[in-house]
Amino acid sequence: MTTPLDYQEIVEEIFQEIQPSLTKGNVANYIPALAKVDPNQFAMTITLKDGKQFSVGKSQEEFSIQSISKVLAFSLAIDIYSKSLYKRVGVEPSGNAFNSLVQLEYEGGIPRNPFINAGAIVVMDALISHYGGDYSALEKVLTFAREISDNPKIKFDAVVAKSEMEHASRNLSLAHLMKSFGNFDNDVRNVVQTYFKQCAIVMNTENLSRSMLYLAFKGKDPISGKEFLNELQAKRINALMLTCGHYDASGEFAYNVGLPAKSGVGGGIVAIVPNLMSIAVWSPRLNSHGNSLAGTLALQMFTRKSGLSIF
Ligand code: GLU
Repeated sequence: MTTPLDYQEIVEEIFQEIQPSLTKGNVANYIPALAKVDPNQFAMTITLKDGKQFSVGKSQEEFSIQSISKVLAFSLAIDIYSKSLYKRVGVEPSGNAFNSLVQLEYEGGIPRNPFINAGAIVVMDALISHYGGDYSALEKVLTFAREISDNPKIKFDAVVAKSEMEHASRNLSLAHLMKSFGNFDNDVRNVVQTYFKQCAIVMNTENLSRSMLYLAFKGKDPISGKEFLNELQAKRINALMLTCGHYDASGEFAYNVGLPAKSGVGGGIVAIVPNLMSIAVWSPRLNSHGNSLAGTLALQMFTRKSGLSIF
């Protein structure tokens, strides 16, 4: 019989080994409120099926989950719209930066996938249409975040959302371009503003890792027993995380880490080990693709040390 893995020992080893990388990379400075975060921080939390957690570093420190929130919004949208959503957003890796306009132009205003900005903005547009307004759509995303994290206190940071709205030219351009192609139903500013509020949801690695258990266990939270998605929907979201979760570095991440995962420019990454656990890491400095530099390395160390990967 093989000895069970000591996850606490593994995360502590990673914490030691990651130290020299904590000063490499840069925080996202295109959102001024995010640039104020102390850049050299690190946290990592593993959550198992029974809720047992293994953490190191600042696992109680809250950060802006940013693009990781796109997984939440897409989970709601896929459940509401099913296949008809794919007329408005694809499921292919973009191979381009998360906020690129070029591809959207030559592909007729249909974003490649729901995890690049254009895709997530169109998903928010669809949620607003379905729920009958920006306020209701945001409330649904927040309620979902509270349910999956089992934490009724989850909220968004209004300062970060406002800061992003003040520097929104590129995201507004993406939305206007989609509108010009007829792939947009609601008011552009309203949708983009609501998307920023969704991105400004705040969690720590303990919350984030707990939240994503539903994706590790076929759509059903193993602790509460709540079924958030069916098995097929959960499989599809995991596939999208693997192929599109790290923008134009998704191939590299799959190659080096080998797990479905989603990153955000706040420095968070959440990764799924199917049927076993969810792992959240956070370190604000980003690599050139906009993904947490130390966070990516930590996950790479984790899969090497544990031998856990989907391959
Ligand atoms: N709110 C960010 C933006 O729209 C999300 C990007 C990210 O986390 O990658 O630019």
